[in-house]
Amino acid sequence: MDAVRGWRAVLALLVTALLGAYVIGHMIGRPGVPAENPDRAAASRADSPPAPDASAGPTPDASAGPVEPPVREAVANPAGRAGSEVVQQPFIAPGRPPLPRSPTGPSGSRRTTGAGYVALTFDDGPDPRYTPRVLELLREHEVKATFCVVGQLAEAYPDLIRAIAADGHTLCNHSWDHDIGLGSRSVREIRQNLTRTNQAIEAAVPGVRVSYYRQPGGAWTDRVVDVAEELGMSSLHWAVDPQDWARPGADVIAAVVTEWTTDGAIVLLHDGGGERQGTVNALRDFLPVLAARYHLDALPPGIELPRRHGVELPLNPGQV
Ligand SMILES: [Zn+2]
Repeated sequence: MDAVRGWRAVLALLVTALLGAYVIGHMIGRPGVPAENPDRAAASRADSPPAPDASAGPTPDASAGPVEPPVREAVANPAGRAGSEVVQQPFIAPGRPPLPRSPTGPSGSRRTTGAGYVALTFDDGPDPRYTPRVLELLREHEVKATFCVVGQLAEAYPDLIRAIAADGHTLCNHSWDHDIGLGSRSVREIRQNLTRTNQAIEAAVPGVRVSYYRQPGGAWTDRVVDVAEELGMSSLHWAVDPQDWARPGADVIAAVVTEWTTDGAIVLLHDGGGERQGTVNALRDFLPVLAARYHLDALPPGIELPRRHGVELPLNPGQV
């Protein structure tokens, strides 16, 4: 009798244990299955938008075509694609190499910032007549910009270079002597020209690093882009050009800039190289409009030498 009772107890325990295991297993297992499917569905839903986005990408390009603006370079990357570049492209920052080349800009130079913000760039200065006025307007609207300066003028007006840097704007190399043919000269000549310009800028603002080059006249060659990169500089072209250097009048400059600027555009303007009152007047008109519409910012500031406890660390290859 005792043996039979013992067996029953063991059986009852076994059945209970098995049933328990089955029920628990079922409870855990079941919700797991449907839970996985919504995840996958959600993931595939999340995956799907980029496809239409990517296919929608070219449309803005196409629609940018019909109007024939004499004064505008087509923006290579519409807003959507500029946004996707943000993830891929590391910004210049301490110890980082130059921005990646653009597949669409001349010789790999960049037409866009690679992010949503719009970059106003001022070439051919500094000029004691106009640079201070441009700085004043930018300050008034709390806008940071990028100044592509000529080496000779940087040497002649170091105070203006310091004023540009002091206001938090980014400095860019525009060759020593505004040499439009620089791109076809020897590597040695190009290197000397760009280095001399950087030295003039660095002499005005000790510790500043120049991370951008803009070829005068936009006359890019692969060689000049290569040398700029070797010297740690990204080559900056532009997406919007109101041709303010030709003095079409403040109204035209302002109209072209406000009409053709899109997210991520690099806008070409001039604060030197001739009479630039039209540009200053245009800036006064379009700056509030543009600042309300876009985030206007300087390209990321120069490559600072990374320092630890007063010791300079080695730079990445290609940076000097
Ligand atoms: Zn120029």
